[in-house]
Amino acid sequence: MTAEASKKPSGNEIREKFLQFFESKGHRRVRSSSLVPHGDPTLLFTNAGMNQFKDVFLGLEKREYTRATTAQKCVRAGGKHNDLENVGFTKRHHTFFEMMGNFSFGDYFKKDAIAYAWELITSPEWYGIAKDKLYVTVFGGAEVSAGTTLGVDEEARKYWLEQHVAPERVFAIPGLKDNFWAMGDTGPCGPCSEIHYDMGPEASDEGHTDCKFPCDCGRYVEIWNLVFMQFNRDASGKLTPLPKPCVDTGLGLERVAAVLQGVISNYDTDFFVPLMKRAAELCGVDFRKEEALEEGKGGAASLRVIADHARATTFLITDGVLPSNDGRGYVLRKIMRRAIYHGRLLGTAKPFLHLLVPEVVRLMTQPAQRVPYPELLENPDQVERVVYEEEKRFTHTLDVGLKKLDDLASAQRRQSARYLEFYENLIPNDKELATEAFTRISRMLRERGAGLPPYPQNRELVDQYLGDSEPAGNRFNPIVAEALDHQLLLEGEAAFQLYDTYGLPRDFIDDVARDAGVKVDWQGFEQAMQEQRTRARASWKGGSKEVANPAYAKLAETFRTEPDFYFETSTKDCRIEAIFTVIQDAGPAGSRRYQGVEELKAGESGEVVLDRTVIYAESGGQMADTGTFYDSSESLPLAEVTGAYYPVAGLVAHRVTAKETLRVGDRVAVVADADRRARIMRNHSGTHLVHAALRNILGTHVKQAGSLNAPERLRFDFSHFAPVGQEELRDIEQQVNEEIRVNTQIETGVMSLEEALNSGALAFFGDKYPESNVRVVTIPDPRAPRGFYSKELCGGTHVHRIGDIGVLKIVSEESVAAGVRRIEAVTGIGALEHYQHQANTLRELAGRLNVGEDSVLASVEKLARTARTLEKELEAQKRKGALNQLDELFAQAKTIKGVKVVCGEVGNVDRDGLRQLVDSLRQKLGSGVVVLGMPEEGKVALIVGVTKDLTAKVHAGKLIQVLAKRVGGSGGGRPDLAEAGGKDTWALKTVLQDVPTLLESLL
Ligand SMILES: [Zn+2]
Ligand SMILES: [Zn+2]
Repeated sequence: MTAEASKKPSGNEIREKFLQFFESKGHRRVRSSSLVPHGDPTLLFTNAGMNQFKDVFLGLEKREYTRATTAQKCVRAGGKHNDLENVGFTKRHHTFFEMMGNFSFGDYFKKDAIAYAWELITSPEWYGIAKDKLYVTVFGGAEVSAGTTLGVDEEARKYWLEQHVAPERVFAIPGLKDNFWAMGDTGPCGPCSEIHYDMGPEASDEGHTDCKFPCDCGRYVEIWNLVFMQFNRDASGKLTPLPKPCVDTGLGLERVAAVLQGVISNYDTDFFVPLMKRAAELCGVDFRKEEALEEGKGGAASLRVIADHARATTFLITDGVLPSNDGRGYVLRKIMRRAIYHGRLLGTAKPFLHLLVPEVVRLMTQPAQRVPYPELLENPDQVERVVYEEEKRFTHTLDVGLKKLDDLASAQRRQSARYLEFYENLIPNDKELATEAFTRISRMLRERGAGLPPYPQNRELVDQYLGDSEPAGNRFNPIVAEALDHQLLLEGEAAFQLYDTYGLPRDFIDDVARDAGVKVDWQGFEQAMQEQRTRARASWKGGSKEVANPAYAKLAETFRTEPDFYFETSTKDCRIEAIFTVIQDAGPAGSRRYQGVEELKAGESGEVVLDRTVIYAESGGQMADTGTFYDSSESLPLAEVTGAYYPVAGLVAHRVTAKETLRVGDRVAVVADADRRARIMRNHSGTHLVHAALRNILGTHVKQAGSLNAPERLRFDFSHFAPVGQEELRDIEQQVNEEIRVNTQIETGVMSLEEALNSGALAFFGDKYPESNVRVVTIPDPRAPRGFYSKELCGGTHVHRIGDIGVLKIVSEESVAAGVRRIEAVTGIGALEHYQHQANTLRELAGRLNVGEDSVLASVEKLARTARTLEKELEAQKRKGALNQLDELFAQAKTIKGVKVVCGEVGNVDRDGLRQLVDSLRQKLGSGVVVLGMPEEGKVALIVGVTKDLTAKVHAGKLIQVLAKRVGGSGGGRPDLAEAGGKDTWALKTVLQDVPTLLESLL
């Protein structure tokens, strides 16, 4: 290999070098955004470096820098970009990967982007890759929208040549597939330029020995894509040059690591090898031996799957995704389960995946002085625990699913055995038997129910077969063969259920089915999966907030709503900037469509944008305000405001119903419901207190998983594994209320994200934070070591002094999902109402018990004690009653033809007591017949017992049938014991009286 390969920089060094290189070129090093995309409901996971800058590229957001560089964590799993099932079986498919990027927001363009890329890649000071291994491509021209054709990107070619790239190594690739990029059907788009590396003929997947660039056999690998956002494409397809073109690049870190470490497969780099070694150790296999096994079960592929999936799992859970049955959690669960399944293939049935978490954390937090993903260090134990729980759960599911599959397979086997047996017994050439055989086979097939293949069922067909001179048996052969074939098919729907509900991977189902001699209907499986995908997509879109719609996005290009709600709840002279009405409700695509209108008439509903507002728009878990638009005299209500939200960042849309005509350009006074807002603010500040207290008392692994600040109560969801104990809840409540009494003044400040995080402010994944101008809400506490009790990034409204909350009372604690708990609490007036309600209940209770309120508990305890005593007494009475009756009945025993007979009516026992009574009497008699009757809740119960020596003469079952008829019922039983029930209670006495006569005739 070349000299630079022998140096073998580590993957972590390669990442750090990239960032340092661009820092040296005046780029701001920006932290990777969360894998959970901010405010982009169309995206399941962050999958490119540009995701976090989307609004900047669209001109909707301004940053304080125009050059940025990032190492972005990305996940692609499922969907069009990546088939999960390929991962582990190729050299370069991953679920989790890192995308290195440099970005220019209207700053430099093609010339510098190309010069930077070439310098980093080839300069011996940086990556130092040999130039004779490199090829570059430029856009080669294509029809980019109907009627608009762009030619070759000669500009880009010129700049590559200026870097002394040999002209024969610069390729213009026509078409849209590889070298043209667009954000969507409309919006920024432009040509791309790529750098490719020649891995040598040994990398060819097709065994090419001397193919030329750009053969796509695997030998030539794209390592860097430079996107030049040059145009804006409008709805008609027309391209207009952007006044400030941008650059977005993506360099695949794992690929470049393979290049610089002199290996062909990404999996042979130091990002994966240590993980695969550890996985082999945990699964109890030999890494070298497995590595050599490329075919069949287990082997290197399984180790690669586990290594890749351990990375995705660790990063996703760190970013707050938890395994679940829908959305992101579902994808995570699929990834984890696939890894666990491959552990099984390697021969381990024990939880092992969680033990790879520390290894991923160790690998991905280097270099220590500039940790690329510091979030991994926050709570690795918690991540490990989530994985462990899922492993335990899946082991169980797997066992259940396997059993289910096994059941299905053996049922199929039994069925087919029956066919065979039947067919073998069939006598060939016997028309009658053959006809019957056919009928029976048809019937059996029909009985199999839905999914039955169409099958000839008419008799004529049989006659046709049998009318032939050939032996009927031969004619039946194909029919039975076909029947057996269908019989041994695992239907697609059932297979998909095993896959989807029981979590059995496809190849797992295939293997087990094959072993059982059952075919799987994979076509039906695909169909079922397609249906599921459609459903999932519908629920995914429907479940998230509305997609920013073009009408609002356009307005946001030039306009922002001034937020006055931090300072007051009423204001005058706000200008109506725009009015929108919904022209199409959320359809299957999930997005509403709006149109701008000039006015809204009285009685109509719509959405109004003002230049400034005091109505708080729903965000950060805080509910929107409600309120009213008035005319300038503040006496005439113009519209009722039922809520407000952000259709795009920075723009508040008020949901209104007009009472008078509203026109664009009108000035209105805006009044928010101040009392409602005050309640919400108390709850929001209370949420911050509860959050801090939870971290103090339960530990810093507690992470916010969602919150709601409503007027009535506050809700706080957080990650924590066990239920919070009563004592802990009391401690939390006490600490919070102590803090309230310190009554410090809440501080809000605006600073850079970096500054905020350094000062100890808590930020949460899933929330959108700009780089600069983040709002920080601090609850100071002079007693605390850092001078504050709580510090959070928050855009909500808060009370002035923390004492304004009054009091906070926790009202419930429960589980909402695996590993997520929910606390609900009330504050201020809400707390007062809560106490009043409880006091009322107590007062009422005391009234009913006729005691003082302080004595309620003692009184209830006394009542419970009394009830227990009474129950015991009642039972004792019953037992005593039964015993008394026993003695009484025995004393009345008669002798009929030498046989002792006990016959009578009993009461106050239950059925069991009745049976015991018969048993005791039989024992006491030694030899004899017992007949007892009992009225029971308007009905009659009868029982006959006969000692064994007499059952030949008197059959209890038969005797009771006779007796039962006479009380209008029925019964039966064994020769020695039989029971009956009837409805004619009035007949009981006579029936019992007649028993001796009846017996006399029998004996
Ligand atoms: Zn080739
Ligand atoms: Zn907040």
